[in-house]
Amino acid sequence: MAQDQDIFKKIISHAKEYGFVFPSSEIYDGLSAVYDYGQNGAELKNNIKQYWWQAMTMLHENIVGIDAAIFMHPTTWKASGHVDAFNDPLIDNRDSKKRYRADVLIEEHRAKLEDKIAKEVEKARKRFGEQFDEQKFRETNARVLETQQQIDRLTQRFVEALNQSDLVELKRIIEDEGIVCPISGTRDWTDVRQFNLMFETQLGSLAEDASKLYLRPETAQGIFVNYLNVQKTGRMKIPFGIAQIGKAFRNEIVARQFIFRMREFEQMEMQFFVRPGQEMEWFEFWKQARMKWHRALGLGDSKYRFHDHEKLAHYANAATDIEFQFPFGSKEVEGIHSRTDFDLSQHEKFSGKKIRYFDPETNESYVPYVVETSVGLDRTFLKVLAASYAEEADRVVLRLPAPLAPVKLAVLPLVKKDGLPELARKILDTLKFDFACQYEEKDSIGKRYRRHDAIGTPYCVTVDHDSLNDGQVTLRERDSMEQTRVPIDSLRSLLAEKVSLRSLLEKNG
Ligand code: ATP
Repeated sequence: MAQDQDIFKKIISHAKEYGFVFPSSEIYDGLSAVYDYGQNGAELKNNIKQYWWQAMTMLHENIVGIDAAIFMHPTTWKASGHVDAFNDPLIDNRDSKKRYRADVLIEEHRAKLEDKIAKEVEKARKRFGEQFDEQKFRETNARVLETQQQIDRLTQRFVEALNQSDLVELKRIIEDEGIVCPISGTRDWTDVRQFNLMFETQLGSLAEDASKLYLRPETAQGIFVNYLNVQKTGRMKIPFGIAQIGKAFRNEIVARQFIFRMREFEQMEMQFFVRPGQEMEWFEFWKQARMKWHRALGLGDSKYRFHDHEKLAHYANAATDIEFQFPFGSKEVEGIHSRTDFDLSQHEKFSGKKIRYFDPETNESYVPYVVETSVGLDRTFLKVLAASYAEEADRVVLRLPAPLAPVKLAVLPLVKKDGLPELARKILDTLKFDFACQYEEKDSIGKRYRRHDAIGTPYCVTVDHDSLNDGQVTLRERDSMEQTRVPIDSLRSLLAEKVSLRSLLEKNG
């Protein structure tokens, strides 16, 4: 784990050194949990967006995309429940003056207890060797049983407290379990308070009776309020989906782990409208489809798992997360929720407008049910970056999925003379219409290869003196470092096969 944390630190500095991610307004010492994407980061991020957008809107005839505004009528957030219930329970430690999420403190404490059992099991496995029966050990070992009972009791209390938003009980759990502040090591806790995560701002100047606005904390509501517009103008038939990529803002209490938890971030959400009663089938469908989308990236199938929610949000009748094995543990990258007709019904109620669908197949009019898939763009970025980072004997390489790489091809003249730069430029000038290419002539060829390894460029071509006569170049592949001679004329089709999004999209088919 300590080693993973080490690697994570290296990934963060690599991201900065090579123009992927910078702390926001760094010259003023940065802004907590806000980041900027640099020249390579912006390209990688755009490619991830393209992959998601095309997987949604091109692979599904019945999904269309929109781009709604960040500002919305403030009643939207009353209707959606965010004004009253988009809260996290926070608690402060009086000695360290540090603020925590009470639920996260308890979850981390529970994870420690689970670790304790895992350690006992490992110790016993070593002691008993071949004959070790793990299940029997877990059922009979006194220490393990006692810890397991503690975990079960804790889980039951915790889930009940969350479900009833019982802040006093959350504090009691922290006290009863003897949870200490990781910084001060003390138990001097304040009461637990609810903290609304929405950022507020004002429309109009203060003098003219300004009204309160919120920066949207999720993109989904922009889709719900446009349901009728899209359904009517697109003549959409249920089931159908509306997809959107856009910024969301949350005033997170504890923002840590680089771009994993930010105060300004981007979501890629798709709301799928279905006939009531069919939501579970579609929930299953989208669980599988979304897992396929992630796995197609080739970062390692075993790094993913589903995690069903213990506490369902007030609007949901089923919910699961897709978790990915980050260097700091298995964490959520995407949520898949069956949101029932909650949002559309609420908007009906608050707007006084009918938000219905007339189903020609059943001759009925109803408020559609919704299954939503909601994936964080920045978390997907982090997942791709972390899983691609590799330290080898004499290089650091980002093994990015080729279609996502910021630069697909580097064109390098072996030397800066003898007509080689001219030929290299000519190659670039024909390929630049199809691929993101870069021309580089400075430094030795080895150094140039290393620079492109570090930003994940999947292919480099080197133009040498022979190229002038035989029309061939050396194509070098990033991961294997293999070099082959190929005709200049074949580069376009060769690359198209390897670096276009098509190769990823086909794995979703
Ligand atoms: P968490 O439990 O980690 O706070 P959440 O369950 O509140 O996340 P959702 O509301 O389901 O998250 O949002 C959908 C997706 O948006 C998440 O799976 C995540 O990828 C992304 N996301 C949510 N909050 C943040 C954030 N503060 N920074 C970056 N991405 C985020």
